[in-house]
Parts: sequence; structure tokens; C-alpha cells
Amino acid sequence: MRILLVDDSRAVSAVMAARLTVLGHEVTQAENGEQGVERFCCCPPDLVLMDVEMPVMNGFVAAERIRALEAKQDWAWTPIIFLTASDTPENLVTAIEAGGDDFIAKAVPETVLQAKMKAMARIAGLRKQLFEANHKLEALAHQDGLTGIYNRRYMDLRLDHQWDEAQLCGAPFGLLLIDVDNFKRYNDHYGHQAGDDCLRAIAAALAGVVERTIANELSRDAFVARYGGEEFAVLLPRCAETDYLDVAEQLLEAVRQLEIPHTLNADWGIVTLSVGGAYVERAEGRLALLFRNADANLYQAKRDGRNRAEVCAAAEAVVTTGS
Ligand code: GH3
Ligand code: MG
Ligand code: MG
Ligand code: MG
Repeated sequence: MRILLVDDSRAVSAVMAARLTVLGHEVTQAENGEQGVERFCCCPPDLVLMDVEMPVMNGFVAAERIRALEAKQDWAWTPIIFLTASDTPENLVTAIEAGGDDFIAKAVPETVLQAKMKAMARIAGLRKQLFEANHKLEALAHQDGLTGIYNRRYMDLRLDHQWDEAQLCGAPFGLLLIDVDNFKRYNDHYGHQAGDDCLRAIAAALAGVVERTIANELSRDAFVARYGGEEFAVLLPRCAETDYLDVAEQLLEAVRQLEIPHTLNADWGIVTLSVGGAYVERAEGRLALLFRNADANLYQAKRDGRNRAEVCAAAEAVVTTGS
């Protein structure tokens, strides 16, 4: 375990650190509660051993600070064991009340120290497993089940964050909405299963373009998500004005190059997309406007015959209906 040992007495600290090191643990020392909290933040340990009486900040206050820090994070909880002069029942009660999980006397017999460290190591192992399982769950919650790319829920989260960031620096921001052409006919003709396979292939092709966009630094935070049934969205923060249409054309081309047969898709005979994009030179105001513009442009691309991209700077007034 990585153990943070907080004690103002150099002698006590040195002896305890030596005993723990012999047991195979990695020990970091701090001289008072304040330094203990600091070390806790920069290098989170598996266990904290905390003296009570210390100058600058005592052990109870330090434990409270650590618990307050952990309260801001999901699933964060690090065992804290107080080091006390004697193991009286009163000391145990006070230690638990102060947010500690146990206490040991500084002169704890070797066998007891070993047994307690074994129990703590078990807990540390479980915490690690819980943390990893949680990370996996979080990743799954962000993923679209069919295509494996990000889902709309995660896109909305990222979008809010990216838009706020862009607004803070008055940075450019663009959005591309992508819709598969005549996809209902594809399903009707080739079956729903083939439709699903087609969506997976399209998602992978779009993700490839977005990866290139990031690698070529056209937009380092570019991001693609499945936005709805057969609709996808690409976010392009901090992209140069001339590059939005370029990325849109690359998306169209990447899917054309898949050459997925679609006999009922106009004259092309393969699966194609339509893209509607909108961008602002400086992010400000409402994100909804950008969406409305992109959506109106997608509608325009469909009306102009599909298999094309319509991208322009976002305008205040948007006509979204027509025939
Ligand atoms: P347009 O070119 O105007 O976009 O025509 P369209 O047929 O693509 O448009 P429409 O919105 O009428 O049809 C979308 C179709 O996408 C309807 C639905 O069957 C299909 N679809 C949506 N989600 C899925 C999915 O998860 N799997 C499959 N296989 N099909 C889906
Ligand atoms: Mg002390
Ligand atoms: Mg659609
Ligand atoms: Mg469609």
C-alpha cells in the first residue's frame, strides 16, 4: 500500500515508517495536518496514519479536510487510522467521530500492526476494483450500444463544456449534422440487420475522419457522436473557417468510399450522406442557434438532392421550413 504517515514527532514517525517499510509498504511522511492534507492531494494514498496532537493543524481537523475533499468526488474514500498514545475506549470513540476508521497505539505490538495492515490492504484492493469497475461503467454509459462511438448523452455533456470554454476565449466553434440518405428505403430493401451493419460501418468511417482531423490539428477537440437513429454529429471547436466544409466533404467521401450498395439511393447506387453545418467565428450567445442553423443547412442539402454538404456561418434568423 501507499501509506501517508502524518506525525509531528520525528522519532515516532521514523520508527513507524521503518516498521511499515519492512512490511512492504511505501511510506510518505508529513509533519503536521496541513502538510498531510497537501500530500494527500498531490499523491492520493491507500491509507492514512494520522497522529492527533500536532502543531499547525491537528489530526482531527486534517481528517475532516480529507473527508470534505473526498465528498466532492464519487466513490472516494480513503481509510484513516489515528495514531494515539494509548488504546482506550474513549480514544476509539473520538477517532471514529472525527471521521477516522480505526486507531492504533503508537507502541502497537508487531502482530497487531501486521494484522491491521493486512485488513487495510484487503480494503485497498477492493477500492481499486471498485474504482476500475466504475470507470468501465462510466465509459459504457457514454457509448452508443450499436456503433460503439459516443452517444448523444455524452455529446450533450461535452458540447456544454466545449461551448463554455469557447465562449470564455471567444474561440471559433462549428457543428456538423449528418444524416444518411434514403435510409428508410435501405432498411426496407436490405432488412433491419443490414441497416444496423451499415450504421456501424458509417460510424467507423466518420470516426476515422474525426481522428484525422485531430491528428492534422484542424480541430484538436473534434468529436463525433451518434445523435439519433441514422443521424450523427461532429463538433469542431477552434476550427479555421475554411476547414468546416473541408471536414464535411471528407465525411461524405469516407462514406462513399465504403461503397455500400444501395440500389434505391437515387443514381448513386451506394450509401451516401447529407451534411448540414454551421459555425461561428467567436462563440457567444446561444448554442441552440448553431443547432438551428446546422439543421436548416442539412434540410437544404437534402432539398438540393442529397449526397452533399451545406455549411455556412450561423445567422441570427434561420428559415427552418419550406418545401
Ligand atoms: P432522407 O434522405 O430524407 O434522410 O430519408 P430517410 O429515409 O433516411 O429518412 P427518414 O428519417 O424517413 O428515415 C430514417 C430511417 O432510419 C427510419 C428508420 O427505419 C431508420 N433507422 C433509424 N434508426 C435505426 C437503427 O438503429 N437501425 C436501423 N437499421 N435503422 C434505423
Ligand atoms: Mg503529536
Ligand atoms: Mg433522419
Ligand atoms: Mg436519412
